[in-house]
Amino acid sequence: MKTIIEPFRIKMTEPVKLISPEERVAALEKAHHNVFLIDAEECCIDLLTDSGTGAMSSQQWAAMMLGDESYAGSKSWKKFEATIKNITNIKHVFPTHQGRAAENILAATTLKKGDIVPNNSHFDTTRANIEYVGAQAVDLLCAEGLDPALDVPFKGNMDLDKLQRCIETHGADKIPFGMITVTNNTGGGQPVSMANIRGVKEILDRFGIPLVIDACRFAENAYFVRQGEAGYQDRTLLEIAQEMFSFADAATMSCKKDGLANIGGFLICNNDEWAEQFKNILILREGFPTYGGLAGRDLEIIAVGLMEALEYDYQVYRHATVSYLGDKLKELGIPHVKPVGGHAVFLDAKAILPHVPASEFPGIGLVNAIYLEGGIRCVELGSVMFGRSDANGNEVPAPLELVRLAFPRRVYTQSHFDYLVEVLAAVWKNRKNIKGQRITYQPPFLRHFTCHFEPL
Ligand SMILES: *Cc1c(COP(=O)(O)O)cnc(C)c1O
Repeated sequence: MKTIIEPFRIKMTEPVKLISPEERVAALEKAHHNVFLIDAEECCIDLLTDSGTGAMSSQQWAAMMLGDESYAGSKSWKKFEATIKNITNIKHVFPTHQGRAAENILAATTLKKGDIVPNNSHFDTTRANIEYVGAQAVDLLCAEGLDPALDVPFKGNMDLDKLQRCIETHGADKIPFGMITVTNNTGGGQPVSMANIRGVKEILDRFGIPLVIDACRFAENAYFVRQGEAGYQDRTLLEIAQEMFSFADAATMSCKKDGLANIGGFLICNNDEWAEQFKNILILREGFPTYGGLAGRDLEIIAVGLMEALEYDYQVYRHATVSYLGDKLKELGIPHVKPVGGHAVFLDAKAILPHVPASEFPGIGLVNAIYLEGGIRCVELGSVMFGRSDANGNEVPAPLELVRLAFPRRVYTQSHFDYLVEVLAAVWKNRKNIKGQRITYQPPFLRHFTCHFEPL
């Protein structure tokens, strides 16, 4: 087979600053060894997140000029609504400024203290919005999903037995809805099979519980289904997405992912009573129901982006870039989560730096080494982000120490990835000299964003 090429050419460039090793040392020092505090300009390749960092197509830039900024019932809203209805066949559509706003409205209107929400794995903002109203966010990931080295498909699936037991234990009246996140971001960008979504829906149906899909990467998931699940090889990604949404009673979406937009989101549902409540809170917090938190031009961009994300050639290329890095890591023997996900590759910092204990944050040691080696920014998903203090104030480490390399959509080319591989190879070679870190300052919540470190 020939090389899979980027299915686009570049019409506009944005300079990347090639920063010297001395400048990297100074930048990291100034940022108290926390890459969240480094200026974006000081990163030559920025793999911090795939959220809102994608490049728009010429069709999207052109659509932007068609933005109808009328307050109510704009032409852009009509396109936005029609596109989402085409993909999901769900009755009520509410635009929001991003995914967490949709989650916030859903949680605020349907949950109360003591309620339970099962999911394969809750994303952190989803969990936070559920916990904020006093409900409990429960993760019921399948056992395979918990083993980073196990190379099997659909590691994002929910454990159906656990779901059944969860409902029987707590009672259906404590569970206003169940969720499934496609792909499972928190669990390594791993996909969920159609059979699993169908299974979740069947169990929830038996108890009269609605299913809400966290749909942020629905198109990447549709591609995984087409490639990996029997019976889908001849289906278009649109048809697969339509089938996925046929099991949903509602969905939350961040258009910063598979909307191929820099901002935006939506909340959709079939239930008329939910829709009435969503509408009232939406007006209070986001805006009039036909624009939500978005400008008319954003609605245009998203209407185009959602369909582009379902283009087969785009997904072939997208998945090829992630697999390309995965294959190189395999060749080099660098431990990572297998199989590679849809939007990111996760390095296993615990296995790469066995000499650094969890109390010295191996993930941060690795993130900082990658920045110093090549000016590449990535993010720790380990004991800094997910660690907890016990009753005596002692740190309880996270189960996994991962470092995520997330891929912005349509932004970097193969030579950027080759450079990334060279940087990772050099870090791997020098791994014995990578030290742990000590926290010298931390805020009470979400410490990973702003805490300060000191290399040991
Ligand atoms: C990004 C994300 C969200 C939240 O969306 P924002 O647009 O960042 O608010 C929710 N769920 C998942 C799975 C996500 O990846």
